Amino acid sequence: MLAGCGRGVYNTIMIHIFRGGRTCKTGLFSVLARLAVFSIATLVFSACATARTPDAEAPHWSYEGETGPDNWYLLDPAYAIARDGKAQSPVDIVTADLTADPGIGKPLISYSETSFEVENNGHTIELTPVTDGNTISIDGEIYALRQFHFHAPSEHSVDGKFFDMELHLVHGNEGGGLAVLALMIAEGPVNETLAALFDNLPGEVGGEETEVKINLADIFTGAGTAYRYDGSLTTPPCSEGVKWTVYMPPITLSRAQIDAYLSIYNGNKRPVQNRYGRPIYKAE
Ligand SMILES: [Zn+2]
Repeated sequence: MLAGCGRGVYNTIMIHIFRGGRTCKTGLFSVLARLAVFSIATLVFSACATARTPDAEAPHWSYEGETGPDNWYLLDPAYAIARDGKAQSPVDIVTADLTADPGIGKPLISYSETSFEVENNGHTIELTPVTDGNTISIDGEIYALRQFHFHAPSEHSVDGKFFDMELHLVHGNEGGGLAVLALMIAEGPVNETLAALFDNLPGEVGGEETEVKINLADIFTGAGTAYRYDGSLTTPPCSEGVKWTVYMPPITLSRAQIDAYLSIYNGNKRPVQNRYGRPIYKAE
């Protein structure tokens, strides 16, 4: 789907039809011409509306070619920060270059069994909680879980090493702040908690949404090492001011579970970005 294939174009065409073109002001020809243009415009709009995007007004972006990560900043003036920002994500976490700060703690996690709507949104498989109740606390601030989704391979790396996949749990607070918890995923034992999801991943973009019950506390206790830094969204508009926490060691999915995801998305990752000297803190 092309950028501009949305309601804006449709409105422009319709305004032209109903205000009348200056070249054909009166007569049967004018009426027929307007009817013809109306039909074409309606057909074009129908085709556009069918090729669903997450936001009909947002430019199309992807992970390769002209609409890929190197060009995101060109797709919309609001995406300029993807090139010009000095706090972009993901980054490589260099464990020999961490900043010590005894005041830095791990997020406090409070997850429980929840129903999630599962959607293939054209960029990833995303799960949105149907009810509230999954929260985290970072530096005394409460953030509620908004959605979680996957990338393959991982977006962050640790000492240059990437993992099979990465899970992002996206949280927001009342002030509009965002906090993402990132879990690396490596091949290993079957992940029973996510089995119902991975047995039934929606392969079709915009297909019928399904619902699945998951207790994220079962896959994620917050154990291990947490690396914290200030970064950005890893997808357009790549807005900054996102509090990142990247956990190690990885959680596991079986080979079959990873392959189920790869059959739908393989390569939906943004390359690592320049740290520009940003500190990365370690909390254990
Ligand atoms: Zn993500």
